[in-house]
Amino acid sequence: MQQWDVIVIGAGAAGLFCAIEAAKRGRKTLVLDNGKRIGRKILMSGGGRCNFTNIYASPANYLSENRHFCKSALSRYTQWDFIALVQQYGIPYHEKALGQLFCDNSAKDIVDMLQQECDKAGVQIALQQEITEVRFADDQYQVVTPQLTRQCQSLVVACGGLSLPNLGATAFGFQLAEQFGLNVLPVRAGLVPLTWQPSDKAVFEEISGVSLPVTAEANDVVFPEDMLFTHRGLSGPAVLQISNYWQPGDALIINLAPEQNISEFLTEQQQQHPAQELKTALAKILPKRLVEKLLELQVFPNQPLKALNAKNIERLDQALSQYIFKPNGTEGYRTAEVTLGGVDTNGLSSKTMEAKNQLGLYFIGEVVDVTGWLGGYNFQWAWASGWVAGQYC
Ligand SMILES: Cc1cc2nc3c(=O)[nH]c(=O)nc-3n(C[C@H](O)[C@H](O)[C@H](O)COP(=O)(O)OP(=O)(O)OC[C@H]3O[C@@H](n4cnc5c(N)ncnc54)[C@H](O)[C@@H]3O)c2cc1C
Repeated sequence: MQQWDVIVIGAGAAGLFCAIEAAKRGRKTLVLDNGKRIGRKILMSGGGRCNFTNIYASPANYLSENRHFCKSALSRYTQWDFIALVQQYGIPYHEKALGQLFCDNSAKDIVDMLQQECDKAGVQIALQQEITEVRFADDQYQVVTPQLTRQCQSLVVACGGLSLPNLGATAFGFQLAEQFGLNVLPVRAGLVPLTWQPSDKAVFEEISGVSLPVTAEANDVVFPEDMLFTHRGLSGPAVLQISNYWQPGDALIINLAPEQNISEFLTEQQQQHPAQELKTALAKILPKRLVEKLLELQVFPNQPLKALNAKNIERLDQALSQYIFKPNGTEGYRTAEVTLGGVDTNGLSSKTMEAKNQLGLYFIGEVVDVTGWLGGYNFQWAWASGWVAGQYC
């Protein structure tokens, strides 16, 4: 039987980062993954440019049953630590928006950096490994594949969540947690487009491709970003962000013109161009195809601006600044960027990521019930949770 100090299951962001740190401490470390290459999600993240962190990352950008759990790891390995590593490798990057840092060239730069760090520290990696069983005997973990059984003192579970099943996502991490007596909170797709009700689909699919800045609100949480109409429903950063907070049956409240005071704008237009049609005025602040659709839906009757009274303007303002959509659901794990829920943090030490009830067993990254907003926050959690576990495993 092969003997290791540490075996990490999952060669994603969290697993690789943990393995590097463990190996730097002199631990004989092996990473196992079911895929053909390391860092597959990193490679396809951020449209191929990997939004690897966010300069504003803080615990407030994360969802979890225990909102305090992520604080320790995020404060001990910060975005500035990761940025320093990226700079050390001379990887060119830029801030795209809202503190989001992307590679100038390719996400491959980040994966190459991780591979080099693994090589330097002496991390071994075995790919295309189908783990059939994990056993615990004599204070050792036995990780079984059809080819061989490997034994280790510390087992780190970094299997990620359920999003993108065609990229190797499995529920294995959750199953292992349950096997060792940890609680797993219900999981659901996050950072995911929302889908139309059949009646809305018939109406809005015609304007798929239309994008506009909005604020999207659900359950008293509001995100100001762009929204995109698609054939299947609503997407774009504002909708992906709010999808983390939206629950089936909830309404989505959209301000279609958040940068405008609509009443003031229309009153002004009315004074300056009384004969102008309402749809012409609205097309100055909203995409024309959306205005035509709203007309067709009789959200407002088209008429010369001079025909509008103060009440009409107020009603129109309300209709546009609090437009209600009732999504049917989400596109699910097929397109979701993350999985909400997962291994209950109550069973883990926030300092080490070790299971409280099971010595030597660690859970890191997305498999844990900590989920970030869109914008580099999820990788920062993967780096931070991987780094802290790597100091102890
Ligand atoms: C399309 C897309 C784009 C994204 N873009 C960004 C972005 O730009 N910025 C950002 O911060 N976040 C982004 N994310 C989210 C981010 O990729 C994840 O939060 C992050 O990769 C989680 O890291 P992890 O190491 O926990 O899991 P993963 O990266 O998912 O790695 C888990 C690994 O475990 C392996 N595995 C699973 N089951 C088994 C098993 N049974 N046996 C062996 N191996 C197994 C998987 O194949 C995988 O390699 C994106 C996600 C997606 C899907």
